[in-house]
Amino acid sequence: MNRCETKKVKVGNITIGGSNHVVIQSMCNIKTSKVDEVVAQIKELEEAGCELIRVSVLDMYDAKAIKDIVERIDIPLVADIHYDYRLALQAMESGAQKIRLNPGNLRTEEQIVAVINKAKEKNVAIRIGVNSGSINPEYVKANGGKVDVPLMLRSLDEYIKIFEDHNFTNLVLALKSSDALQTLEAYRAASKKYSYPLHIGVTETSYKDIGLIRSCVALVPLLLEGIGNTMRISLSDDPVEEIKACKRLLHEVGLYNNFPTLISCPTCGRTKGPIIELCRQIDEVLLKYNKEIKVAIMGCVVNGIGEGKGADIGFACNTYDLFTVFEKGQVKGTVTTKEVIPYLENYLKNR
Ligand code: SF4
Repeated sequence: MNRCETKKVKVGNITIGGSNHVVIQSMCNIKTSKVDEVVAQIKELEEAGCELIRVSVLDMYDAKAIKDIVERIDIPLVADIHYDYRLALQAMESGAQKIRLNPGNLRTEEQIVAVINKAKEKNVAIRIGVNSGSINPEYVKANGGKVDVPLMLRSLDEYIKIFEDHNFTNLVLALKSSDALQTLEAYRAASKKYSYPLHIGVTETSYKDIGLIRSCVALVPLLLEGIGNTMRISLSDDPVEEIKACKRLLHEVGLYNNFPTLISCPTCGRTKGPIIELCRQIDEVLLKYNKEIKVAIMGCVVNGIGEGKGADIGFACNTYDLFTVFEKGQVKGTVTTKEVIPYLENYLKNR
C-alpha cells in the first residue's frame, strides 16, 4: 500500500515518516518520577511491540527523572509538556528524544523559541499536538464557540509558522479530537496541507469496544489512504492493550507483518465446546509468537472445517471435549479440549 510522502523525522534510533512503517506508540500511566515503576512499564510495552514511549512531565522531578529512564530503556522517549516551557528544556537536557507541545497551553513566542533552540542543540524532534479540547479559548469564542477543523488547522498553522520562522522543521504533527469523524477530517486536511509526518490517533476514546471502534472509525480510512506515520490507540486501559490494538489494526489493513490472525466462530446452538474460553487462551498463546499464522477455533465440524479452511491450523469441536484438528482444511486427527493449547504451542514451536 502506498504511503503519502512526508518528510522524515529522526527520533532516537527510529525514523518517522518517509517510506518508513507506521511507528507504534503508547504512553505510560505512572508518574514519571517513579523511575523503577516507569522503566518496568516501558520494558513491558517494549516486549509487547511498542516502538516509541511518551511520558508526562508534570514537574521538575519528572523532567529530571527522564535521565535515569532513558539510560535503562531501548526505545526513544517523548516528553509530554503542558504549560511550562522550562520542563521541556529540562526534559531535553535529561535526554528525551522528542517533545510534545500543545499549542493550546504553551503560547508565548519567546518561550517557544527557547524550546526550539534547545531542540536544535540536542537534535530533538517536536510533536505539535493540537487537541480540539484545548484550542485557544479566544479563537473558539471568535468562532462562535465552535471548534471545527478549520480552527484546529489555524491553531496548528500559527504554531508551525513560529517553528519555521526559526528554521526548525524537525516536526511531527497531530490534530486529535474525541470525535472520530472530526479527527478523520482533520488528518485528511493536514495530509493535503503539510509535508510533515503525522501522528494519528483519536483522543479520549474511552475503553474497550467504545475506544476501539471510535479509533477504528478514524484510523482505518486514514491508513488505507496512506495517511499516518506514527499512531497511538488511546484507551482507558492498561497501555499494553493500546499496543495490541495498534498491532492488530495495522495487521488487518496490511501494514504490519509477522503477526498472528485468530479466526473463530461466533458460536450458536450447534456449538459443543468452550469456544469463547479457548479463544481467550489461544489469543494469549499467539501473542507470544510474532508469527504470520492463521489459527481457527470453531464450535462444530459441520461448518467449522469448511469455514476455517483458510487457517494454517484449526480446531473444530466434533463432540463435547473432542476437537478435530485440521491444517489448511485437511483433517489431521483429534485432541481433547485440554490438549488444544499444548498441541497448538507445539505446532507453533516447530513451525
Ligand atoms: S461453526 Fe458451527 S458452531 Fe460455530 S457458529 Fe458456525 S455452525 Fe455454529
